[in-house]
Amino acid sequence: MASHETPPPRVRRTGRGKYIRHKRRQWHRVFFAATFVICVLLASLFSTPHGQPAAFQDGGLELLSATILSYRSDQQSPTPALAEPLPVVHATAEPSAPPAQEEPQPDEPQDDGRTRVVLDPGHGGVDPGAVRGSIHEAKLNLSLAFRVKEYLEDLGYHVLLTREDDSTVSRPDRAVFAQEAKAHAFVSIHHNAFGDSVTNGIETWYNDRMNAQNRSLSRDVQNELVAATKARNRGLRVTRDLMLLRQDTLDMPACLVEVGFLSSDRERALLIRPDYQDKLAVGIAAGIDKFLTR
Ligand SMILES: [Zn+2]
Repeated sequence: MASHETPPPRVRRTGRGKYIRHKRRQWHRVFFAATFVICVLLASLFSTPHGQPAAFQDGGLELLSATILSYRSDQQSPTPALAEPLPVVHATAEPSAPPAQEEPQPDEPQDDGRTRVVLDPGHGGVDPGAVRGSIHEAKLNLSLAFRVKEYLEDLGYHVLLTREDDSTVSRPDRAVFAQEAKAHAFVSIHHNAFGDSVTNGIETWYNDRMNAQNRSLSRDVQNELVAATKARNRGLRVTRDLMLLRQDTLDMPACLVEVGFLSSDRERALLIRPDYQDKLAVGIAAGIDKFLTR
């Protein structure tokens, strides 16, 4: 049987086989041509007169990026992604650009054309001020100062606080702060206390020797406070002893307001209420604004 078997048919070189070999030769030519072009390109990039690869010299990566970018710009239809420039990587330290101008700090004195008001929340830190149970004057002074600040800023004023948290700030430092801020008005905010539980009302202190405008500022703040709260008007008080308001520490219109008595049961109940604090803030802000816009 085996001798009669016909040999397996030889693969005939058909026209289709010639075509495939022809295409392979074409692909080989394209491959070798592409390899040659790449080699020439790399040689131009990495050869320099100093024998050091250009990509590792100063600005080499910029050169590489620029070469790639110029190659891309030669393409007829770059894709959107390729059209974006490559980030330039600095291979070596270069003279740094001048530092960007720092944003002015919010609480740094600055002459931006706005009228400046310094609010001084009395006490703070180791000095709680008047204390009744868990109620500390220093905390009430601070929260009220923040409310006043908000209203004054709405009116366009630049408002600075001598303290913005429960920290200890000496009285001389508060005055220095206001002086350095070149404030147009200084208002110290306090809550009062007395030996009985019935004395109540609002009073404003000023130094009648220090600044001719102190009385005007004090009157405006006092009147607006009483109008906003309907509290008892205890009037203006003159002092030459309060160090904070002394002539040698402040040379701007200044006053110290006592917005109510924590020792008064009735008034204390009001002073801790947010809606009453808001009335106090409106009154202080309106008084300062009235004085500064005369
Ligand atoms: Zn006080």
